[in-house]
Amino acid sequence: MASIAIDGPAGAGKSTIAKCVAKELGFIYVDTGAMYRSMALYFLRNQIPAGDEEKISEACRDITVSLAYENGEQQVLLNGENVNAFIRTEEVSRMTSDTSKYPKVREKLLSLQRDLAKEKDVIMDGRDIGTCVLPDADLKIYLTASSKERARRRYLEQRERGIACELDQIEKDIIARDEQDMNRAVAPLRQAEDAVLVDASDMTIREVVEKFISLYREVQRTKTGSNRS
Ligand code: C5P
Repeated sequence: MASIAIDGPAGAGKSTIAKCVAKELGFIYVDTGAMYRSMALYFLRNQIPAGDEEKISEACRDITVSLAYENGEQQVLLNGENVNAFIRTEEVSRMTSDTSKYPKVREKLLSLQRDLAKEKDVIMDGRDIGTCVLPDADLKIYLTASSKERARRRYLEQRERGIACELDQIEKDIIARDEQDMNRAVAPLRQAEDAVLVDASDMTIREVVEKFISLYREVQRTKTGSNRS
């Protein structure tokens, strides 16, 4: 099976780009952030404090996360309930970063993510895909952009969803979340040694999509070439 791993900080455009690339290549898009978000939603709903690792770890036993696809869009099921509509708030974003650092939370999702890549051609995005989930991915990309640009995009996205927000606050939240994701002990966000760095600060969505596709075509050509020789 073919696989593309995309990692990078919050709001870099990973999901927007990955969705387009998946469509053009006929791959399945797997949004691993949504899986961590669904677990955070469970902790919030059950009023389990983010700082209580023991309770969070125990609660993991009561959670089942699965994925379904509706018209090509990934839906996350939390104990059978489709929670896509509830996992994009800033409160959930913060809780996700506060709890995704715990080994028990990560363990829960790792095998599910790896199994998906065994069954289908996938483009998977997150924070530890190239470094941990799919170390043998055919192509690894580290997608980033300046924090100003990432905040601006997240702001427009939230406004479009009808969610009230402030640009400055979004930028502060994004920076705090990246700090936490990059500095945790387990599976921190970092660029894999064999990942291609793409800085999308001054690129349009179309330009980034085309860059990804051309990188993937290059990988395919190299593979076919080395198979022949
Ligand atoms: O990508 P998204 O912004 O939805 O991710 C939300 C949070 O989930 C991240 O800030 C990070 O803490 C966590 N995450 C992770 N590992 C992944 C994907 C997301 O720790 N592979």
